[in-house]
Amino acid sequence: MSVHAYKQPFKADTLTFELAKESGKIYSKAMLLNKKEHKSFKEITKIMEKYCKENRKYLHSQSAQASYQNFITNLKSFFEALKTFNKNPSGFSGKPRPPHKNKFMYKIIFKKSAIHCNNGYMLLSVKKPYEPIKIKWAKDLPIPLWVEISYNKYDGWNISFVMEEKCELLELDKNKVMTIDPGNKRTATTFNNVDSEVTTYNGKIIMSLVRLRNVVDGRIKTKQSKCKKRSRYYKILARVKRKIVKRIKNKENDILHKYSRKIVNDAVSKGIGKIVSGDNSSTHNKTDCGKQNQKIQQNPERKLIKLVEYKFARVGGQAEAGHEQYTSRTCPKCGYVKKTSPKGRTYSCSNPIKCDFAYDRDGVGAIGIMKKNVSNVSFDHKEWLDVVGGLTPPIGVKYHKKTPRLSLVSSNRNKIPNNCLASNGENSILGNFSELVNLEKLEEPHVL
Ligand SMILES: [Zn+2]
Repeated sequence: MSVHAYKQPFKADTLTFELAKESGKIYSKAMLLNKKEHKSFKEITKIMEKYCKENRKYLHSQSAQASYQNFITNLKSFFEALKTFNKNPSGFSGKPRPPHKNKFMYKIIFKKSAIHCNNGYMLLSVKKPYEPIKIKWAKDLPIPLWVEISYNKYDGWNISFVMEEKCELLELDKNKVMTIDPGNKRTATTFNNVDSEVTTYNGKIIMSLVRLRNVVDGRIKTKQSKCKKRSRYYKILARVKRKIVKRIKNKENDILHKYSRKIVNDAVSKGIGKIVSGDNSSTHNKTDCGKQNQKIQQNPERKLIKLVEYKFARVGGQAEAGHEQYTSRTCPKCGYVKKTSPKGRTYSCSNPIKCDFAYDRDGVGAIGIMKKNVSNVSFDHKEWLDVVGGLTPPIGVKYHKKTPRLSLVSSNRNKIPNNCLASNGENSILGNFSELVNLEKLEEPHVL
């Protein structure tokens, strides 16, 4: 059983605004009790209960309670983050801070006792003299666990219904593993130990969207620098920027959702029960990557991994992070580690003792993650080498800009020399690899 939130735009009136303001007031009050008077959880609850009884004007009693309870949960999660930070600070961009910001507005939470459905409407109760908030609601829809109304500078007012969701858990084999190598030019590269297929997910459009966002940001900032701060024109420009950035981010999210759905569907169709992704979160904490700073730090590949994780968990799969140090430099065939990371898109082994392995660079990374993290999976080492020798060229997945769809393209087919795929001609089954891959089949567009 899991919960799923359905978010929708919401038309707010003055009452909603007052509700959000009061919710923010209660949250800020609880925060100050902790920040200035160093009260414990129990004391905060006690004081806030009394405070809400006396000062509440608009909110339903349960909604007011939820506002300060939310602060307490935030504080608790801060202490947990601090614990993990003290144990292992890598993966954090800095020391975690307790919730410290004063909220002018905060989300309004309606618990189950404040939600009533009848005559095709949902009624969200507020304090008595005021009329409840009315929303059209089909009769056959279930009643949500709780409802939230929130405001965000970028999205405006939104309402989200949190519903209970029964998911069907599939029977998946945990010994079948897929690895993901997150990256820049290829947002993700996957490899699995079922049919050892490598799939690369093109990241060029995402990269260009990130660049476009920075260009928009820069241009509007220069315009803003020429006018008076907080003047009318200044604010109009800020609004325009938010609107454009939102549109660009929507596009980015669309690509990430389609990619993650395809990865999970691929895994499920092969009966894979475990996904291991390379943990490159520390690259986002480096502040000095020279010219490539923006390119590396703003790339949303971590977001993709998060999407894959929750989508895979919903069908009963297990997703975890694995080490990825040196995986893109290590030869999967002989284990030789290069001194520098490979240049270009093709990895070719530079072992002085002759080894002619050459393969797509990102594919090598994904295979490396499999070798490094998946040790308890039963596969014979000899058989494994044969598999590597027989790798087919990676299948590329690309998002089309104009008509949003995914298609399969065969990438790097011409760049990889033939002889390297068959290891020294020992694997006679392999022969010429172009026979193995049905070229026409690959180029056919694949619509999800
Ligand atoms: Zn090698």
